[in-house]
Amino acid sequence: MRTSLGAMLAIGLAGLQLLAVLAVVFSSYVSSERALLDHARDLLRDVGANTIEHSRGFLGPARGAAELSARLAQDRVIASDVPELLERLLFQQLQLAPQFAGVYHGNEEGEFVYVMRAGEIAPFRTKIIRVDGEDRTVELIWRDNDYNVIERRMDPDDPYDPRTRPWYVRARDQLTTIWTDPYIFFSSRQPGITLASPVMDGPDRVRGIVGVDIEISDISDFLARLRIGATGRALIIHENGDVIAHPNKDLLKAENADGTLRFVDIRSFEDPIARAAFADLEASGRLPVAEETLSQFTYGGETYVSVIMPQISDNLPWTIGAYALESDFTQVLKANRLTNTWIAVFVAAVTGLAGLALANYIYKPVRAFAVRNALVAQGELDPSEPLPKTYQELERANQTLTEQIAARRETEMEYGRTFDMSSRGMAQIDPETSRFLDTNARIREITGYSEAELRGMTVNDLAHPDDPPFLLSGTDPSDPQEINYEMRCLRRDGETIWASVNAILIFNQQGKPLHFVLTLDDITASKLTEEQVAELSKDISNLSRDKTMGQVAAGLAHELNQPLTAIAQNADSALYAVNRMPDAEPELRLTLEEIAEQSIRAGEIIRALRSFIRRDEGIRTDFDLGELVEQTKRLVVAEARAAAVTITSDMGAGLPQVHANRIQIAQVLVNLMRNAIEAVSEKGSNDRRVHVHAALRDGKVQVCVTDTGPGVDPSINLFEDFETTKPAGMGLGLSICRSIVQTNGGRIWHEAAEPNGARFCFTLDIAAG
Ligand code: ADP
Repeated sequence: MRTSLGAMLAIGLAGLQLLAVLAVVFSSYVSSERALLDHARDLLRDVGANTIEHSRGFLGPARGAAELSARLAQDRVIASDVPELLERLLFQQLQLAPQFAGVYHGNEEGEFVYVMRAGEIAPFRTKIIRVDGEDRTVELIWRDNDYNVIERRMDPDDPYDPRTRPWYVRARDQLTTIWTDPYIFFSSRQPGITLASPVMDGPDRVRGIVGVDIEISDISDFLARLRIGATGRALIIHENGDVIAHPNKDLLKAENADGTLRFVDIRSFEDPIARAAFADLEASGRLPVAEETLSQFTYGGETYVSVIMPQISDNLPWTIGAYALESDFTQVLKANRLTNTWIAVFVAAVTGLAGLALANYIYKPVRAFAVRNALVAQGELDPSEPLPKTYQELERANQTLTEQIAARRETEMEYGRTFDMSSRGMAQIDPETSRFLDTNARIREITGYSEAELRGMTVNDLAHPDDPPFLLSGTDPSDPQEINYEMRCLRRDGETIWASVNAILIFNQQGKPLHFVLTLDDITASKLTEEQVAELSKDISNLSRDKTMGQVAAGLAHELNQPLTAIAQNADSALYAVNRMPDAEPELRLTLEEIAEQSIRAGEIIRALRSFIRRDEGIRTDFDLGELVEQTKRLVVAEARAAAVTITSDMGAGLPQVHANRIQIAQVLVNLMRNAIEAVSEKGSNDRRVHVHAALRDGKVQVCVTDTGPGVDPSINLFEDFETTKPAGMGLGLSICRSIVQTNGGRIWHEAAEPNGARFCFTLDIAAG
């Protein structure tokens, strides 16, 4: 089925717009979500990186401070064994770095100077342990910001020995700066980390250790200040699983049985989302991660995005994780998306309607054009009628169409004229009923019926009642047969005529049969000629047989007459002699008488036979020699074609009719033409012609048959009985010709033709009057 242009335009325009809107919405739907999630991950990654930087920046100065103090003591820039000087140095360092909780120095003797921030009495407190042999004193000093002593007292009960502390032991063993694992400071109850650096007294000898306590709760404050989406958080866990920094500092600490505080492991940490964020990695033993790991997890039916950073450094084996609700980033987008979808639906509807309107606007002139064409095709509208205003293309198409219609009409008219004026009878026949649809003047003339009469007839009504019916067939368009017949027809006036009929079935473009075109020619005249030629042929062969027999008989009579006469004469002489013999046997006389009688009888029979043959002169009539030559040519045409010989004739203008026996003259012509064809075919030449020529000469018509053969053999006695050069020849043809021509009052002779060949001529009487 073909789709209408209007429907295609409407569907096409509206559909395309809908597709365009859908494509935009869908792509923004997908790409905006992806972009936002990428953005969220970038944000989390930045949080991780910032936290690392912050932690490094926070802890970096501590290392500088500890190592500086250790170096100063080692180089004896300050006398590490003078506690007052040491105290001053440590105090200044504590003042400079607000993240330091305390700075201290212990030595191998168990002496100890410790300056720390204090909560009560004064901002700073110093503990100095002095060891002098067995004497050991512990002094506590509280100072204000200006290093003024606020209070000073001795603490004899203090058993503290720096050399037993883990930071001291590790730094002395490793002979380098060490970091302790984070722990909760005993005095400040705040999470922190201790850094210890050895003061060397020779390459392997340690004189003492400088230590710095750094409170790391500030890192938790930093984390608390971070804004990660609406609900996002970052936290730090130590390699042993302890959560050491979290926006909610209170969650970090748990109390041991002895009242001391410790960090809480991530597995039992009280922030369940934080637990979930690390749970998978923790469970699969993938912590710490080698590189930034972005992932997703769900908690409480919500999806979170997270990033886990690799450990900060060997000294700080901390893992920073950050996470946030995915919906923090996509919520707005989702709301937006709904709005966008509605806008898209609205736009699609509006543009779809606009598309339909446009399609209608575009299609309207096309529809009008189609209607106009249908009207033109039905003949209800003249194609020259002006076309309503429309598109250029349609106007051009219309022009072409109009031209084609004009051309078609012209063709139809021409066909009509050809049909009407054709010299051949023509008709259109209904293929189903075989009835005449249309007829031309000639067919009416041939059949004698009027147009109206033929319209009421079938083609078979024309067929002669004695002949089989005329059948039309061939309704298969793939096999459009042409029907050719020669049939006898009965004219309206009852006369029988011969007609040659040709019928072709015409189909329309869809292969449906339209009508037969029938062409009918009156061939009665040529049929008659054919019949005449056949008749002539029959007559000639009868005559030929008679003539041959006659000629043989005449020859025999002529040959037998003399011996018979001799027998009769001899019998007479013998009888005369016997009659004069006295004792002659009467039986002998009787026998001789019988011989004489019988020979005379035989001679009479032969005379009768000769007179019978002579008697056959036939009836002489007046006839047209040209017509006879044409008919005799048709009798030898098959032989001529087989021998590749061309027969031409030239009767000359105004040749009068001749008076002779028509069939006998035909016999002469056939004999001469056959001889000529045989003579030409003997020769291998390319010039293979036989020419029959007639002309009026000396009051007679002279007919000559000339050939391009080898000419007559000089040894032959032409026109005599039984003279032949051909193996199968009888040698009677020419002698028969001579007797016929002579019987008809003419003369026959032979001449040599130029440059080669033979010419046989004979004369005929002109018809009287
Ligand atoms: P047949 O044809 O049986 O031989 P014909 O009497 O017709 O008897 O011819 C006698 C002979 O005359 C032929 O055998 C042939 O040799 C010669 N003859 C007749 N017509 C021609 C011709 N057109 N050209 C050459 N020879 C001819």
